Amino acid sequence: ILKDYVNGFVKESDMVLKSTTIKLKVPEDSPNSILVKNLYLSCDPYMRNRMSKLVDSYVDSFTPGYPISGYGVAKVVDSTHPNLNKGDLVWGITGWEEYSLIKSPETFFKIQHTDVPLSYYAGILGMAGTTAYFGFYEVCSPKNGETVFVSAASGAVGQLVGQFAKLLGCYVVGSAGSKEKVDLLKNKFGFDDAFNYKEEPDLNVALKRLFPDGIDIYFENVGGKMLNAVLLNMKLHGRIAVCGMISQYNLEQPEGVHNLFYLVSKRIRMEGFLVFDYYHNYPKFLEAVLPVIKEGKITYIEDIAEGLESAPAALIGLFSGRNVGKQLVVVAHE
Ligand code: NDP
Repeated sequence: ILKDYVNGFVKESDMVLKSTTIKLKVPEDSPNSILVKNLYLSCDPYMRNRMSKLVDSYVDSFTPGYPISGYGVAKVVDSTHPNLNKGDLVWGITGWEEYSLIKSPETFFKIQHTDVPLSYYAGILGMAGTTAYFGFYEVCSPKNGETVFVSAASGAVGQLVGQFAKLLGCYVVGSAGSKEKVDLLKNKFGFDDAFNYKEEPDLNVALKRLFPDGIDIYFENVGGKMLNAVLLNMKLHGRIAVCGMISQYNLEQPEGVHNLFYLVSKRIRMEGFLVFDYYHNYPKFLEAVLPVIKEGKITYIEDIAEGLESAPAALIGLFSGRNVGKQLVVVAHE
């Protein structure tokens, strides 16, 4: 439960755990509803934005005093919905609680393929995977042989973008915040190179070293200083897919972006996107990504915290880089 709107850096104590007793049944006056047992919850950076009092945003603020919500994998335990039945497995936006009553489950996806770990639907086969897939293939317009830079590269989205780019035959470099993560990028995810942005005194110099001829595609996850340095290193007609800017989410005053005139002089296309504009193409995504997972062509790393009580720490860990790979919370086993 969110105690109150958050200003500045989110803390574990901004959330509190409470117990209550509920009937495991959809109330009679709730048609088209499902009651779900939550299995996996996904920790996502955008959830920090929802903890602030938002105006003019693409998402609503969480309501202080109530459980927060986010993507998760759940099992239907009771239903008054015509297409969702008891026992169905689903993924979509659910409460950070053991059981949730979902009054309009239209945005939920029914899980049809259970020959992969269920947790994947809170990550690689859920929001993070679709973000990486559509963000890279549709927003970046990538071509074989191009140079690609990914920030927050070892995280949920970044690790997948880098591997999609490698499958296409690109030269791929990632940045991350620790030696362990840099090793993962190079040795596990198959990036051509990687660097620890916290240890580079000058990000512009680091990027010049790794991309002597410049960057064709930047997959932007962090914003701030990194974006400023990337703009200095883009190639003519480069593309920047603005997926997120995690370095800014806890700041009361966002840092300024400099060097924007390079968009003009180098004819760069910089485009923001939101994953939910692509969900209608989810079947196409599954058709493309399930086989590469099953063939072992993609490596996917999850960081799974145990129990709802560990969820606040797991969520805020995203902002200090505590997570290694996709951060999830397992609430219950099926
Ligand atoms: P990650 O799994 O990558 O976790 C966040 C990571 O960000 C941390 O592990 C940390 O890694 C890095 N980080 C945290 N603070 C900073 C900072 N100040 N500067 C640089 N890096 C930082 O998260 P996701 O893969 O889920 O999300 C990545 C980005 O994608 C976010 O910006 C998110 O908002 C965005 N997103 C956008 C979507 C869309 O529809 N547009 C959908 C989903 C995600 P490290 O140790 O390397 O610093």
